[in-house]
Amino acid sequence: MKHKLQISQNHCQEMLDHIRQQLPLEACGLLAGKNDRVERVMPIRNQAQSPVRFVMDPYQQLQAFDWIDSNGLELLGIFHSHPEGPETASPTDLAEAAYEVVHLVWARMQGAWRARGFWIENGTATEVVLQIVD
Ligand SMILES: [Zn+2]
Repeated sequence: MKHKLQISQNHCQEMLDHIRQQLPLEACGLLAGKNDRVERVMPIRNQAQSPVRFVMDPYQQLQAFDWIDSNGLELLGIFHSHPEGPETASPTDLAEAAYEVVHLVWARMQGAWRARGFWIENGTATEVVLQIVD
């Protein structure tokens, strides 16, 4: 279980750019890095094309996993958006979490986007501290 994840302002911006482009649909992607520090944001197409759920395009996901492996990085997290909230992991997120990584949820609350991290295991979410670094 991870207790924190370090993300740069630029990487947050990359996620937000992708999330805004996909509106009103949920957006998703992978976070690769090392030692709890994100080094690469990898947007993945939401195959579900839904405003309330996401399914990562399996082909793009596989390509991303290959890239992560061949660059000596680890899969640290999965991010996705909740265009209409909530700012926590949804029951679907809890049920469908398939990887032991940090689940980053970007929620739009009163027009402002905010990210929170969760570790999901056995259907339970525990908050992970997101450290925004330069
Ligand atoms: Zn969700």
